[in-house]
Amino acid sequence: MPRANPQQSKRLISSADLFWQQAKAALSGLPNAGLNIAHEAVDRHAVGDSRHHLAIRCIDSTGISQDFSYLDLSKLTNQFAHVLQQLQVVTGDCVFTLLGRVPELYITVLGTLKNGSIICPLFSVYGPEPIRTRLISGNAKLLVTSKRLYEDKIEPLRHSLPDLEHILIVDQDQTTPPSCDDFWQLLNRASDRFAISPTKPETPALLHFTSGTTGKPKAVLHVHNAVIAHYASAHYALDLNSGDTFWCTADPGWVTGTSYGIIAPLVIGATLLVDEAEFDPVRWCQFLQDYRVNVWYTAPTAIRLMMRLGNDLLDHYDFSNLRFAASVGEPLNSELVLWGKDALGIPLHDSWWQTETGAIMIANHAKMELKPGSMGKPLPGVESAIIQRSSESEIEMIDAPDQAGELVLRVGWPSMFVGYLDDKELYRRCFINDWYLTGDIVRRDIDGYFWFVGRVDDTIKSAGHLIGPYEVERVLLAQTAVADAGVIGIPDPVINETVRAYVVLKAGYSASDELKRHLRAQTRKALGPAVAPREIEFCNKLPRTRSGKIMRKLLRARVLGLPEGDLSTLDSNL
Ligand code: ATP
Ligand code: MG
Repeated sequence: MPRANPQQSKRLISSADLFWQQAKAALSGLPNAGLNIAHEAVDRHAVGDSRHHLAIRCIDSTGISQDFSYLDLSKLTNQFAHVLQQLQVVTGDCVFTLLGRVPELYITVLGTLKNGSIICPLFSVYGPEPIRTRLISGNAKLLVTSKRLYEDKIEPLRHSLPDLEHILIVDQDQTTPPSCDDFWQLLNRASDRFAISPTKPETPALLHFTSGTTGKPKAVLHVHNAVIAHYASAHYALDLNSGDTFWCTADPGWVTGTSYGIIAPLVIGATLLVDEAEFDPVRWCQFLQDYRVNVWYTAPTAIRLMMRLGNDLLDHYDFSNLRFAASVGEPLNSELVLWGKDALGIPLHDSWWQTETGAIMIANHAKMELKPGSMGKPLPGVESAIIQRSSESEIEMIDAPDQAGELVLRVGWPSMFVGYLDDKELYRRCFINDWYLTGDIVRRDIDGYFWFVGRVDDTIKSAGHLIGPYEVERVLLAQTAVADAGVIGIPDPVINETVRAYVVLKAGYSASDELKRHLRAQTRKALGPAVAPREIEFCNKLPRTRSGKIMRKLLRARVLGLPEGDLSTLDSNL
């Protein structure tokens, strides 16, 4: 664990502390200073008038919806917590799901938290090997999955998972495979009253694997205290309130899909919409309209694909219920922000955070003036700085505006991760004094807005300059012909690395030397000759993670013929 700085302990209560204290006061808590995410998300709303309020509406791919009030959800999650007790799954044990976005996923996540066990939702599209490594790394004791996923992906490797004691199958109308149990049969026999586990703020609750953009995905552990940040950030950065209908498009296999696709909207008492179907831009427009979404949280890759539909088609939809829309995961270039205004009637708001931070840290939040292309400003509870690492244990602050450096956050926000499973050393190296080093390079402008520059791992070192790939991609993305861009460094004996851009063109534009020259001229004008790409290559697609992030390291490895590393999160459909 990072050590608290003695200076810090002597500090009077800061405004950052006050922000979290106020958020905590808005929650119910448990007796004896206990805190449980599922109690805040479900049980405290399952009394009085709010018990009949719609908590979750799950819509399947044919449009049939299943509704759960807060009371329904409370009973079902109580039943699941009982099932865990009967199977002797206790506090600290890890429960995994391998499911699509079906009701059983939500029941399992919240029921597991009620039982005081740790929940890890896996993305159902993974192949058997990534599933195996994750189950082993999380020491999975119980898995909830479907018959199809079990037969395709788990059965062949079950012999190599001796610690996985129980597998529950959710399908209601099929025979359960041998040595598995029937989820609904167990659930229906269990009582719907349950004395919630007396978890403390520091009790482990959530396990998430990072996106694997820069290497092997890391197993990140969070505690029940994170619920304070889920609640406060959704309210403050996403403008989410109890009467709202909220749609987060991320799968719970990623941290966004759990923090904001399950926990935050329920803690606030809103209605959570769940779309079981896979991404389809036309369906999404229909969904926003038909289910009268008020607050929408999505990602730049999806927005880019919706943008391709063209405004003629988008004009047919009524988005008038949409009050706030935000994005996360990748930089949101200003063209996308403004497209939102044009096509949806409201601009898109960028937000920045990581699996490790557990909740939104920096955002263009609802009440401040939006700066298109910027990440926004830190939430009031987040103390940030921009630094340069001078050695393994020392950092230098960069105070001047517009200077790029690594973003660091002062430890102590409630959803800060408490460890990487099996890698204590890596965790230790994430902290210097009481600062968490994010590994992202940013700039802060004179008005205090943060701008994404790149990741420390992707930084290009060319002729004495440190170049953040996104600084170059941003300029390319602003060109009318460009649909997508990825920038990497290519080894060079004289200047160390040269900047090379890979560009995907929009429909209707064809690759030509003339277009290359034009793009080079535009980037030189905006960035100067030292930073502009020396080479531009056209391509049909860029390697991206399933959560939509450009895998620059993989792009570089492919170009240079280097080992490709862990590809478990690569989206092979893009
Ligand atoms: P890995 O750590 O395994 O390489 P990852 O960092 O991509 O994967 P996540 O925790 O899912 O895994 O993603 C967090 C990262 O995503 C951030 O560190 C940042 O680089 C990027 N990111 C998130 N939001 C934004 C944003 N609004 N603008 C720019 N980058 C963002
Ligand atoms: Mg990361």
